[in-house]
Amino acid sequence: MELLQPDDWSEALELRAAHPGALPLWGGTDVMVDLNFGRARPEAILDLTRVRELAEWSESDGTLRIGAGVSYTTAIADLGERLPGLAAASRTVGSPQIRNRGTIGGNLGSSSPAGDAPPPLYAGDAEVELASATGTRRLPVAEFITGPKRNVLAPDELIAAVHVRPTPGAQQFSKIGTRNAMVIAVCSFALELDPAARRVGTCIGSAAPTPVRAGEAEAFAAEALDWDGGGALAPDTAARFGQLVAEAARPIDDVRGSAAYRRHALSVLARRTLSWAWSEQCA
Ligand SMILES: Cc1cc2nc3c(=O)[nH]c(=O)nc-3n(C[C@H](O)[C@H](O)[C@H](O)COP(=O)(O)OP(=O)(O)OC[C@H]3O[C@@H](n4cnc5c(N)ncnc54)[C@H](O)[C@@H]3O)c2cc1C
Repeated sequence: MELLQPDDWSEALELRAAHPGALPLWGGTDVMVDLNFGRARPEAILDLTRVRELAEWSESDGTLRIGAGVSYTTAIADLGERLPGLAAASRTVGSPQIRNRGTIGGNLGSSSPAGDAPPPLYAGDAEVELASATGTRRLPVAEFITGPKRNVLAPDELIAAVHVRPTPGAQQFSKIGTRNAMVIAVCSFALELDPAARRVGTCIGSAAPTPVRAGEAEAFAAEALDWDGGGALAPDTAARFGQLVAEAARPIDDVRGSAAYRRHALSVLARRTLSWAWSEQCA
């Protein structure tokens, strides 16, 4: 197997165009597992780890640009205040070693419905920046992932970055697993409140072929929350929100949990995260 190691971004894009069968790699926490289990046998590996700018993030005009090679550890340490939802999701990923190596871009590249980075990015209307030797394009993260382990990346493209604005209000993320660490989500839920726009963003993880927004739940909560008064969250509002989130899921029975359990768990996660976020917002 050939190992391609570009030293900078333009060389990476040229190599990608010249070797469309090469598998990109950053942390390798998904790629190496697939190689070791014989699930992938690419003709070449495109190792991006020398492209240091991929591991950088920046902020301009009220938007964060997070390079595809930004690790979970960096997201927690550097972006925790700006993106508490993404940081909370990052804290649940694997172990310290996996969080040091694993990246936001790699999680998007794998496009697993159970990935922990996408839900907060969906809830925050993030965009993915894709690049090839001929140019770049940006698209909503929800249009990037098209199915389990499938996405719209063209054979000559790489993920350059994610664009998302810093939190406009409270953000929460909650995940159910069979234990507290080193576990793939049975289901997860991300929530974002934007009091200025009176908007509620959500995303369900690991309970549909892709991460999915709970649109009806978002519209219901945006209408029902007492944005002006900041009064306590009514139990009926929390319960209805949980019910609408559960209805938006399309879970299956699998080794990690049954569809019925996932729906029930999501209604609980949704109620809890809304109540935590609302208390934080009104504090
Ligand atoms: C023990 C263990 C525990 C884990 N726990 C979790 C968990 O709790 N939650 C979770 O979500 N995931 C978990 N994972 C999965 C994995 O760590 C994450 O998906 C991680 O984000 C992958 O990032 P990476 O940089 O290692 O990606 P890599 O393995 O390097 O790549 C992953 C995929 O993305 C592609 N890719 C990478 N970078 C680019 C790029 N710039 N452009 C285009 N394609 C690219 C690769 O070709 C590959 O298809 C775990 C993995 C292990 C081994």
